[in-house]
Amino acid sequence: MDNYLLLTPGPLTTSSTVKKAMEFDYCTWDDDYKEITQSIRQSLLALADVNPSKYTAVPIQGSGTYGVESVISSTISNSDTLLIAINGSYGERISQMADVYGINHIDVRIDEQKPVLLEDIKSVVEMHPEITHFAMIHCETTTGVLNPIEEIIPWVHERKIVTIVDAMSSFGGIPIDVSGINIDFLISSTNKCIQGVPGFSFVIARKKVLEATKGTARTLSLDLYDQYHEMEINNGKWRFTSPTHVVHAFAQALEELKLEGGLQKRYKRFQANQNQLALGMENLGFEVLIDKKWQSPIITSFIYPTDDFDFNDFYQKLKESGFVIYPGKISKVPTFRIGNIGEVYRDDIARLLKVIKEIQNTEKSF
Ligand SMILES: *Cc1c(COP(=O)(O)O)cnc(C)c1O
Repeated sequence: MDNYLLLTPGPLTTSSTVKKAMEFDYCTWDDDYKEITQSIRQSLLALADVNPSKYTAVPIQGSGTYGVESVISSTISNSDTLLIAINGSYGERISQMADVYGINHIDVRIDEQKPVLLEDIKSVVEMHPEITHFAMIHCETTTGVLNPIEEIIPWVHERKIVTIVDAMSSFGGIPIDVSGINIDFLISSTNKCIQGVPGFSFVIARKKVLEATKGTARTLSLDLYDQYHEMEINNGKWRFTSPTHVVHAFAQALEELKLEGGLQKRYKRFQANQNQLALGMENLGFEVLIDKKWQSPIITSFIYPTDDFDFNDFYQKLKESGFVIYPGKISKVPTFRIGNIGEVYRDDIARLLKVIKEIQNTEKSF
């Protein structure tokens, strides 16, 4: 099969040098390997711009969901109550996790086409003094809406509530003032904005809060405190087999993020990609689902142009031309999604728009 560009925000298109870093069967457990893990942890703290004496970075084997589940299942006890802000399927997923573990939770559901706002949270927190933890999504990849964590998290933190942010599809691509706004647990993974391959997630955690969770875990493998403890006392040793190829690819991806000029430069590229994509699609007659004010620079939802729009046919034609996009994920409005993170540049978006225009010209349905 010919190579195609993944316009699906994670897994995404990685550089050839990131792929090359996996062409070797690395040993594990020894000092060289542990050093790589430690340097990744330091790089993540630097990327989060947090003080290493206050925060730690803990990798967890598995995809992003495993990292979120590690925080939910091992840092919240049976006597706690978790407030969850939901405006898409990743927020719903946290609610599902709380159900599985029998954790007390209060769900605030907001229309999927809208951001979560502070006023949605305020009244619930004021009505429920039993709330001890709060979780929300930064970029809701379901629609591409960017929730204003910088307005909500500081207010929640002031009420002595532990704050959890799923920044899976934003960390490393959108600046986040982790310690400034007082995030206690931030979760992300290798295969989103940092542009590595899938295989592990990581948690940026406030040490004092994490250390207080010792013994809270409901599973062995997702015990965040224990993973942290092992990495601290054994200089970067993972508790169980680590994804060695993924780890090396991720170290390379972090290096390439630096070479690109760092977080601000990458953010600019993603923003430029998204602007070019949204504008180009609008010129072709497509409508963006999310209001510009809340649209993330990561992924864009487009409303089906006509009632008889055939997404599968559109998808296949794009794939044959070298682009893979995403179906929509919300129920109320038929949409499809196009991501613009990964090794994706100006010329790629221009080529995509040209191909969509050609498909449009040969189709009668839109
Ligand atoms: C990708 C993503 C996840 C994790 O999904 P996995 O399939 O487990 O990697 C969680 N939250 C958000 C917002 C995401 O974009």
